[in-house]
Amino acid sequence: MRISIPYYDRGYKVVSISLDNRTKDDLLSESVSFWHIDEQGITEYPGGNFITDDKKAIEGFFRCGNYDVFEIWENGTASRVYNDQTNENLFFVTGKCNSNCIMCPSPEQMRRMGDKANVDNLIEIAGHIPSDTSHLTITGGEPFLAGRDLFRLLNYCKNKFISTEFLILTNGRVFALKEYCRLLKETIPSNCTLGIPLHGSSAERHDSITQAQGSFLQTLTGLKRLHQMGIRLEIRIVVCRNNVKDIPEMASLVVRELPKVGHVSIMAMEMTGSAFLNREKVWIPYSESFPYVREAVSILAESGINVMLYNFPLCTVDRKYWTICAKSITGYKVRYADKCSQCDVKESCGGVFAGTLHLEKADLRPIRI
Ligand code: SF4
Repeated sequence: MRISIPYYDRGYKVVSISLDNRTKDDLLSESVSFWHIDEQGITEYPGGNFITDDKKAIEGFFRCGNYDVFEIWENGTASRVYNDQTNENLFFVTGKCNSNCIMCPSPEQMRRMGDKANVDNLIEIAGHIPSDTSHLTITGGEPFLAGRDLFRLLNYCKNKFISTEFLILTNGRVFALKEYCRLLKETIPSNCTLGIPLHGSSAERHDSITQAQGSFLQTLTGLKRLHQMGIRLEIRIVVCRNNVKDIPEMASLVVRELPKVGHVSIMAMEMTGSAFLNREKVWIPYSESFPYVREAVSILAESGINVMLYNFPLCTVDRKYWTICAKSITGYKVRYADKCSQCDVKESCGGVFAGTLHLEKADLRPIRI
């Protein structure tokens, strides 16, 4: 969400917001900088400096919630960076990535030219987020391209958010270096999982998908090191035409090399960015991929490893696997086909990505029970 503040001239800052006096008193006692919004206008605390009485800006903030956090930019644009009403908040560290996956939902331009993180800004944002927030994700691009600086953010989070669940999404390549494993061990928040993708059971397969030679060896070395250190791991397998037949073998690799892994997520693609550009090569209808997915699920489940299916609509999955289908697509990206209105399980179904619907909608089959 973005809100425009006319004639703003107070420079970059991070503020929480309060919409009632109870929250205002609470934020004053916490000594964080915040904007209090009421019908008369927007006032900054501590200090009580009046910001604006612009009606549109006031209405914009009233559509938000108490304890939401905004970055205010020099040009008067307020961007919401934390929404206290959801558990989908994230620290976006950088758009850059040292891999270039052919089915990445981000465009290649962003991975090559994306902005570098300002870890100090992220720490300032973290300072405004309530310490009892339930979930935070740290993501990119590849967040560890911020280098050792990122461990300052982790350390801050470890000390502030005692019970918050963290998910760090990384390609894991950096953990081929022992030094990065040591730094992670020292700074990782207590309730934290690293989500790391595996794209093939061999260097040939994995590296052809990441388009980064040596990435399989680095990721697998990192995974083994983190596994040995007892770091909680989620292995992510993104299904595409290029690896679909290899998925059962990837499951066997996990069973063999990473038997104590927290869980494995088998995920359907989001067809935007590079995935869309490469759609002739990578796209595979869900129902065509499912026999291989089913075999991988059996291999993992029989070895006692938790497995979940992400982004698969229920009609593309055998009924007995519905209990492991997560409603995983972020709310604003979820789409259903017109025919889904005739489906008896729509309430339980996570739908499909907005960017994927046009490719998959012919295969969706309303379910009658
Ligand atoms: S028909 Fe639509 S609502 Fe029903 S399971 Fe398929 S995608 Fe989901």
